[in-house]
Amino acid sequence: MNNFNLDSIIRPNVKAMKAYSSARDEFQEINDDFIFLDANENPFNNGLNRYPDPLQRNVKSILSKLKNVAAEQILLGNGSDEVLDLIFRAFCEPNQDNVIAISPSYGMYHVLANLNAVEYRKSLLSEADFQPKIEDVFSKVDDHTKMIFLCSPNNPTGEIIKKESILKIVNRFNGLVIIDEAYIDFATEPSWIGEIKNYPNVIVTQTLSKAVGLAGIRLGILYASQEIVDVLNKIKPPYNINQLTQLKAIEILNNYRKVIETTNTILQQKQALENALTEISFVEKIYPSDANFILIKVDNANKRYNQLVEKGIVIRNRNNDDLCKNCLRITVGTEVENQKLIQTFKTI
Ligand SMILES: *Cc1c(COP(=O)(O)O)cnc(C)c1O
Repeated sequence: MNNFNLDSIIRPNVKAMKAYSSARDEFQEINDDFIFLDANENPFNNGLNRYPDPLQRNVKSILSKLKNVAAEQILLGNGSDEVLDLIFRAFCEPNQDNVIAISPSYGMYHVLANLNAVEYRKSLLSEADFQPKIEDVFSKVDDHTKMIFLCSPNNPTGEIIKKESILKIVNRFNGLVIIDEAYIDFATEPSWIGEIKNYPNVIVTQTLSKAVGLAGIRLGILYASQEIVDVLNKIKPPYNINQLTQLKAIEILNNYRKVIETTNTILQQKQALENALTEISFVEKIYPSDANFILIKVDNANKRYNQLVEKGIVIRNRNNDDLCKNCLRITVGTEVENQKLIQTFKTI
């Protein structure tokens, strides 16, 4: 087992901070009988003249039921980007600490490391199956390694990271393991949320931007021990989730059956797209996908990418990513969009 000790990895300045207490923290009950003259808001009701709930309790109570986790173990951010940035700021000392991430993976981890002056160490995935190479990961760990980022299902490769691999890392690493599950709703494997109680060094992040279909409202979600969430709550901007976002999230999450329906439709479409891609002459490889996108290897990614753009279809060229030479990433669209893509592939 590891020697994880949350207290020892919190930045000293963060540990010394007391949470900023906003007007809405000090008096939480929004009660129509009260007169609120505490936050310098405009008193004329237009539906949005009041500050939003800083702890987003209505959103969290729905998520708590959906995901079977205590509301106190949930932190919401302005997209996953803010959630991930808060983790860097809470635990990584600039110009001193480092983090490790698998590669290729989601580009924001590197951007946020740079922004926070934290060294970013890449551990290449195995070329054979896009799984992490455990010994390579640990060869990069030193006393200043605070976090390891694992994205599962991984973007851009599409595959889930095997539970055994994640366990090996979680059990041995003394810092935090961040499991980014932006695409977990498309996978057949279960989320790691259910394991948080067993592994206090695990942080799971999810988002409403993909399967739930709300990329426009910017809502990222973190699940972790209450101790970790408390640290992050202390440093987050008080009103980081705006009222419109909270209301829309509640509306859509309250009708989760619809989300599951569209997810299933996307999965059916993915299957159809995979089948159709096998018949395209220049497609050399279709990687297995547990997400809502498909990574393919083609004869010449730059050429095929540009040909598609000329026909008005934009996919993602991953040619410059590690292990992704001549690879293109295709998001699964509607049936009509996917058919258009295949027709176009056949003519170029
Ligand atoms: C799309 C994506 C996200 C979502 O980020 P948001 O800021 O919540 O929109 C997070 N992680 C990965 C790996 C992604 O691909």
